[in-house]
Amino acid sequence: MSGLATARRIVVKVGSSLLIGQDGANAHWLAAFAADVARLRSRGQQVLVVSSGAVALGRRRLALGRRALTLPEKQAAAAAGQSALMRAWEEAFEPHTVTAAQILLTRDDTEVRRRWLNARATVETLLSLGALPVVNENDTVVTEELRYGDNDRLAARVAQMIGADVLVLLSDVDGLYNADPRSDASAEHLPRIGRITPEIDAMAGGANSGAGVGTGGMATKLAAAKIASAAGCATVITLGTRPSPLLSVEEGARATIIEPSTTPKAAYKAWIAGSLAPAGTLTVDTGAANALRRGKSLLAAGVRAVDGRFEKGDAVLVRDEAGHEIGRGIVRYEAGHAGQICGLRSEAIEAALGYTAGPLIHADDLALSAHGAVVG
Ligand code: GLU
Repeated sequence: MSGLATARRIVVKVGSSLLIGQDGANAHWLAAFAADVARLRSRGQQVLVVSSGAVALGRRRLALGRRALTLPEKQAAAAAGQSALMRAWEEAFEPHTVTAAQILLTRDDTEVRRRWLNARATVETLLSLGALPVVNENDTVVTEELRYGDNDRLAARVAQMIGADVLVLLSDVDGLYNADPRSDASAEHLPRIGRITPEIDAMAGGANSGAGVGTGGMATKLAAAKIASAAGCATVITLGTRPSPLLSVEEGARATIIEPSTTPKAAYKAWIAGSLAPAGTLTVDTGAANALRRGKSLLAAGVRAVDGRFEKGDAVLVRDEAGHEIGRGIVRYEAGHAGQICGLRSEAIEAALGYTAGPLIHADDLALSAHGAVVG
C-alpha cells in the first residue's frame, strides 16, 4: 500500500526528463498526467506539483545547446524556460478546468520560519480555491550556496510545509535497488523501507548515487525521503514514464515506499515545541487555560497579559496566571496588536484593529506542554 488512495494531500515531483521531449514540453505525457491528477482531485484529494524543466526548456529557447552552463546562464535559461513550463502546465490542465498557479521558492522561503509561514498561507489559499499549485525553485535569483539545486529536496520541504501525507518522486527508475540495476543483474528492488538506515544510505551513495537522468540521483531522493519521513510524510519513488504513473502505483506497479516516522500533525507540533525560540509570552486566565488543555484555540478574551516583542508568525509561550507553561504556539498578531486586543471578545477585534486574523493562536498551531515537558 502506497497510501496514495487514502492520502489527503499529495505532493508530486515531476523531473525534467519526463516533461521535456525532443521539441520542448512533452504535451502528450502532460495530458495523461493531468488526467491522472484530476482523478485524485475528483476523489477530494489535494495535489500539489513540483515541476522541473525551466532550465531545460530555456536552454532550447536561448539556443544554448547541450554544453554545461555557467550559473548565470542557468539562471537566464530558467527565466526563459519558466514561462514556457507554466504554459505547458496550464494547457495540460485546461481540459479539466483546473487553474495552474505558479509558485517560485528559494531555500530561504522553505527554511526561514516567517517566509515559510507566508508561503504556506499562499499555498493553503490556492488549495482551498481549488487551484493546482505548480512549484519550482526560483532559479533566477538564488546563488550557488543558497540553492537547492534539485527539486527532490525542494519537494520534500514543500511536503513538510503543507503537512502532506504522501510525496511521490516520479523518476526514470522504478525505485531503489541494493545495487545499480544497470550494471548488476542480481540487484534487488526494495519495495518498502521502514527506516533509512546507514546501510540504505550506503546503497544509494555508491554506484547508485547518479542513477537516473536529471539533477537528482538516488542520493538526493533518499535525502528528500528523510526530510519527508521526519515530517510524517511517506515517500513513493516510482517510474514516471508510464502515462498514468499515479494510477499505476495504486494498481501495484513497482515502486519503493519509504514510510513516515511520525504523523504530519505530530511533526509540526514537535517543530513548534522544539525548534522555535519563544519571542514573547501570553498569560491567560483559568478558563482559557482549561480550554487550551482541551484542545481549543486561544481567544483574545482569555488573555490577561502580553509580554515581549514578537511579530505575527513568531512562536510565543503561553502561561497560566500562576506562571506554569501551558504550551508554545505560533501567534497570529504582532505584540502591539495582541496587547490592544487582549481581553476583548472576538467580535470586538475588528473594531479595535481594523482587521481580524481570528484567534491569537489557533489550536493547530499550539503545542501543549505536560508537567513542564513540551509534548505534541
Ligand atoms: N529547478 C530546475 C528547473 O526547473 C530543476 C532542478 C531539478 O531538476 O531537480 O529546471
